[in-house]
Amino acid sequence: MERVHLDHAASTPVDPRVSESMEGWWRENYANPSSRHAAGVAASEALDKARRQIARATGAQPGRVVFTSGATEANNLAVFGHARARRGHGRHVLVGPLDHPSTRMPAMQLIEEGFEVEELCLDSNGALDLEDAQARVRPDTVLVTQMFANNEFGCVFPIRELTKIVRRSAPHAAVHVDAVQALGKVELDVELLGVDSISISGHKINGPKGAGALIRANDDPMRALIHGGGQEGGLRGGTQDVPSICGLGLAVKLAEEEREDSTARMSELMRTLRAGVRERKIGRIIDLGAPKQEMLPNIISVIIEGPPAEVFLHHLDARGLAASAGSACQSSKKSMNPALFAIGLNEEEARRVLRLSIGKVTSLEEVQRSIQLLDEVRSELANIV
Ligand code: PMP
Repeated sequence: MERVHLDHAASTPVDPRVSESMEGWWRENYANPSSRHAAGVAASEALDKARRQIARATGAQPGRVVFTSGATEANNLAVFGHARARRGHGRHVLVGPLDHPSTRMPAMQLIEEGFEVEELCLDSNGALDLEDAQARVRPDTVLVTQMFANNEFGCVFPIRELTKIVRRSAPHAAVHVDAVQALGKVELDVELLGVDSISISGHKINGPKGAGALIRANDDPMRALIHGGGQEGGLRGGTQDVPSICGLGLAVKLAEEEREDSTARMSELMRTLRAGVRERKIGRIIDLGAPKQEMLPNIISVIIEGPPAEVFLHHLDARGLAASAGSACQSSKKSMNPALFAIGLNEEEARRVLRLSIGKVTSLEEVQRSIQLLDEVRSELANIV
């Protein structure tokens, strides 16, 4: 059975050019990049090359790329690092309404350190409410963290506009952007966005898992999260994972170089997928904030007709189609993805959210087959109910 992967928002296959670039760094040159001998210097130069590749793709300076174990760590570093370094200026923190747990959870943790944490809001259409943001930003706001593109619904948030609002009213605030799902799909330039930092992850862009970075736009003070041997400018102790970082650097370079072509292809496939979902009456597509907000070319969430998405998912999986559910069906409401409730769904609707996400390598045949399989499962389950 040929399997179809429509779960690229969760993870993507490693590009063969990327895995090749990682090869020599395990067994041939395995030196510690902090070592002073020739092999160590070569490994350190490989890290610098990856820094340059990432900096070029994101409009940053190479020296401001901090390698981490992924975006979860990069987001934790950003939230704790910015807020703790600025606590002398205030203790007010704002978090995006649909942000990933890797920024939300550390922000909530800050409450224990005496910070006041509030959420930004969506307007009645599901777009980021910039008027509300304007009202919430204060002179003592020290951090605003807002994702660029949402991993569940595919909507793209207006970061430049948000940053302008923050700069007007909060002179000491850092703006951090989780750019994990935006990289390779949307133009990413830290200067143009006017932000202080962005986080990225290798495995969402056909690179390795366990590799990511926090990319800073300036040298403003920041506190480290992991203390050790002073690597990464003292912001992230620990011997760097040279093979993964080499893979990450190339994956970012390719994602940016091939962005126009791949987004054009994915947009075309997405049109087909959307038409199929509509015509076969699979469910209602959640077009959050549209048309005011743009959508990514690769992610949609659908409120399916009938059973919980988890059941639908098992039937799809048995037929060879991998997708994702916004929530697990047995799980309590508390453990469900809060983003589903933040957009105004009730518990019953939230359980029926199915996410379909295509990737760079997805073919038209795979999309057509997926529509067929979705239709088959829909009618099979309709007969059971
Ligand atoms: N932010 C977003 C928006 C994500 O989709 C993910 C991955 N699900 C992360 C952060 C965490 O990235 P990583 O897997 O590299 O820790």
